[in-house]
Amino acid sequence: MKSKASVKVITPKASSKSIAPQVAEILATLGEDPQREGLLHTPERVDKAMKFLTSGYHVDIDRVVNGAVYEVQYDEMVIVKDIEFFSLCEHHMLPFYGKAHVAYLARNKVIGLSKIPRIVDVFARRLQIQERLTQQIARCLLEMLDPLGVGVILEAQHFCMMMRGVEKQHSGTVTSAMLGEFKHKETRDEFLSLVRQRG
Ligand SMILES: [Zn+2]
Repeated sequence: MKSKASVKVITPKASSKSIAPQVAEILATLGEDPQREGLLHTPERVDKAMKFLTSGYHVDIDRVVNGAVYEVQYDEMVIVKDIEFFSLCEHHMLPFYGKAHVAYLARNKVIGLSKIPRIVDVFARRLQIQERLTQQIARCLLEMLDPLGVGVILEAQHFCMMMRGVEKQHSGTVTSAMLGEFKHKETRDEFLSLVRQRG
């Protein structure tokens, strides 16, 4: 069940180099004047933004969780739903965003609830495809909590589909990762009905 490659591996720190000169070049190549007032500081802003939006590569998950894993006598489903996330598709470097629903079936170990959205952010702030993002969140919880199972559903909209290509503004993409007990119909159905319940 466990993935061979640990998701907790962190890559070396981001280069301290700025991508601003390359961004200025891109602007010029697109026929813009990087020297005009509105664009003067755009390359530095893009540098900052892109470094933030890909900062998830350099985060140590253990530091994010910061010991908030507790031993308790609990073997029920824990679910955090409607977690907003924002990511970048690795094919176009355009945003995709939506909601994550994350659940696990505890095996006497629980994680502080506020940590789950933080874990989602760590993997979302990378160049991603939605399928991998879904899997990484699920595998991370599996490794941290050794639960009976994990279920993750991501509902997202992709700008690369909305603004270009097929230009389907309202089509959403749903991905799921069901590990352990969540492969069984009963558990999965319970998860799905909890996700659909609007409160
Ligand atoms: Zn794309």
